[in-house]
Parts: sequence; structure tokens; C-alpha cells
Amino acid sequence: MTKNKVVQNKITNFKIGDITVGEDFLLIAGPCSIEGYEMASASAKATKGSGANIFRGGSFKPRTSPYSFQGLQQEALEILLRLKQELNLVVITEIMDPRLINSSLDFIDIIQIGSRSMHNFPLLKEVGMIDKPVLLKRGFQATIEEWVHSAEYIYKEGNSKIILCERGIRTFETYTRNTLDLSAVPIMQKLTGLPVIVDPAHATGRKDLIPSMCKAAIAAGADGLMVEVHPTPDTALSDPEQQLNFAEFDSLMQELIPIINFFRKN
Ligand code: PEP
Ligand code: MN
Repeated sequence: MTKNKVVQNKITNFKIGDITVGEDFLLIAGPCSIEGYEMASASAKATKGSGANIFRGGSFKPRTSPYSFQGLQQEALEILLRLKQELNLVVITEIMDPRLINSSLDFIDIIQIGSRSMHNFPLLKEVGMIDKPVLLKRGFQATIEEWVHSAEYIYKEGNSKIILCERGIRTFETYTRNTLDLSAVPIMQKLTGLPVIVDPAHATGRKDLIPSMCKAAIAAGADGLMVEVHPTPDTALSDPEQQLNFAEFDSLMQELIPIINFFRKN
């Protein structure tokens, strides 16, 4: 693994808008899927108002069943661009198809590579060739070593603006959707020098576990968090069990901000 340049070079901080990644704590929040302009706009205003600095919203959804909601796709990208302009936001969405990378660049600030795509090598090579930050989620069946190699695919093509995201791995445990591997945070930071954030929603699949897992991630030294927030989680078209409503997100943020400030200073 030491052959990997991402391991040898220890990447430095980079900017996305006013945010210095690696220095500023990333608070990424928003709905699992963009379901329309109104709900996305309300979510963006609420999450920003509570302290989030990046707005997320799925456009192309990687669903297990082809009959499940697949996302609003191009329409969602257009909504994200509109919100970015109206509210001065930094926005992130997942792109799954390598053929859509170039056409998505004008709409978003960060490209998300989802857990199911971590082994999609043509996609990794494609995002390696662009000048935009990439959030690389851990494959839910991927080892640390495989995850590093995937980051290397991006780095090798010339893109070093990579953020890693631990989002849980599949184990024999069924109480939670996945098992959150918090040891991956310091391991990946030490191995690669890249910023590592944590997504407790997809890791656990349960909204009641989000606050405690957020706190644990901050204490483990994470560089940020990604939380799913929806105006009415019960009616969400994807992941209804793991999204917080606006009030829940706001009280979570009030609890987390002093903890973030404490751990980032010490
Ligand atoms: C997501 O963040 O929208 C998502 C689908 O997550 P994951 O790729 O981790 O399952
Ligand atoms: Mn989701």
C-alpha cells in the first residue's frame, strides 16, 4: 500500500468557497433525496440556519430495487443550482454514471461517490480528471485497504481534493443497518492525511442513534459530519427512518457545536 501516492504525500488543506477543508469542520446536511423545489428550499434554509455549512440532496439515487424512487435526476441538479444561487450555498450530490460527471459540474460544488460506487473504477478515474472536490464514501463491504486504493484511483489522475466518508460497513449485526467503524477515522487520517467525515444516518439507519454517533465521531477526531434532514421524514421518498426533522436537527446542532469547538481546539 505504501506505493500509493495518496499515502505517501499527505495531502494539504483545500478551499471550497469560504470553507477550508481539513481545518473547518464540515457540517453537511439535507434530505436523502431532492423531492421538489419547495422541500429542498425549506431544508436548505433550515439546515443553514441551524449551522450547517454544506447542503446535501440526492439527485440520482442508488436504490436496491429498480422500482424504488430513483431521484429527480437532472431536475434535482437544476434545483440545487437554483438554491446555490439564491442562498449562497455549497452543494453536494451523488453522481453514479461516469457519463454524467462533466455535465453535472456546473450545478454542484462537490461530487459524492456513493458507497455502492466505491469500486466503480471508470467513475473514480473520471472524477480524478476534474477540478472539483470529491467525497468518497466507504464501500459497505470495503476494507480500509480497498478504500485507500479507491482514493488512489482519483488521486492518480490528478485530483487531490478528496474527502473520505465513513458510512458503516455490513456485519452480522442486524439491529443497525450497518456497523459504524469509527476506528476508520483516525486510521484513514493517519494513512492518507485526507479529511475524514462520518455519516451516522446511513451507518445506523436509525434516527435515534444519530446524536450519540455524531458525538462519538467528533471525539474520534472526524473532520465533519453528514446528516440527513427532511421537512417530514415519515413521508420521505427514500430513507424515512433515518432523517431528522428541522427541530430535531436544530437541537442536535445546539448540542454538537460546543463539542466540536472543544475537540477542534484540543
Ligand atoms: C447518500 O448519502 O445519499 C447515500 C446513498 O449514501 P451511501 O452511498 O453511503 O449508501
Ligand atoms: Mn439516504
